[in-house]
Amino acid sequence: MSTLKIENLHVSVGETEILKGVNLELNKGEVHALMGPNGSGKSTLAYTLVGHPKYEVTQGSITIDGQDINELDPAERARLGLFLAFQYPVTIPGVKVADFLRHAISNVRNPDRKEGEELMPMREFRKELRSTMEELNIDAEFARRYLNDGFSGGEKKRMEILQLAMLKPKFAILDETDSGLDSDAVRVVSEGLNKLSGPHMGVLIITHHERLLEYNVPQFTHVMLAGRIVETGDASLARELHNNGYAGVRERYPEAA
Ligand code: ADP
Ligand code: MG
Ligand code: MG
Repeated sequence: MSTLKIENLHVSVGETEILKGVNLELNKGEVHALMGPNGSGKSTLAYTLVGHPKYEVTQGSITIDGQDINELDPAERARLGLFLAFQYPVTIPGVKVADFLRHAISNVRNPDRKEGEELMPMREFRKELRSTMEELNIDAEFARRYLNDGFSGGEKKRMEILQLAMLKPKFAILDETDSGLDSDAVRVVSEGLNKLSGPHMGVLIITHHERLLEYNVPQFTHVMLAGRIVETGDASLARELHNNGYAGVRERYPEAA
């Protein structure tokens, strides 16, 4: 059993406190949904978990199996089994999908590896990549594409799922922003995550998409409001929020809303 534990987490960006005491415990094998109105702090939590330098933890802790990860950089966190699908805002010139994955996998599997040092042997990597892509029904050609160079929404999600399958993290944080996810993209994440999740992985999925949560039924649904998780329920809470929006939650927590 492995546990990612967030306790009384306070996070600031510059002078502004955004997270105001978040508590959440994610065990391997569980699927949690994080929902909440726009601007409530969901993405802030995701970025803080992977160690984005802009987000400063001012109080509280994040631990993996009791080890505080606050001082660790993103690569070290990845080695402990934490994964956030990176959203590449720009194209990385000259880097192909396969190159990127070989570097990422080498970094995660060899804790002593320094930049520029031995990568996972090519033959071994190719074999693993090929079988993983077959399993996920991703066309072999995709590995030769340049990273994010003209990727459609669905292709970005294919990249995310492929990364997840290759890196096999203990904890996966997926921030599926609702804008710009076309139906192909939603299908790719829904089916891919469903295929990959299981007893070996804990999933925190940030989404409002009904389809995604139908394919990946969460055992726990958390509602974030103004930097706090104000309610936790099961899958029926996600359904209720779908049908009725956040007005009810805001009414129940007027001090947060
Ligand atoms: P959500 O993902 O729930 O929509 P965010 O975490 O993106 O919410 O944002 C929460 C609040 O924090 C918003 O008011 C947003 O403007 C602010 N915020 C988040 N990231 C930054 C940042 N890097 N710089 C400045 N403000 C930020
Ligand atoms: Mg947002
Ligand atoms: Mg967000």
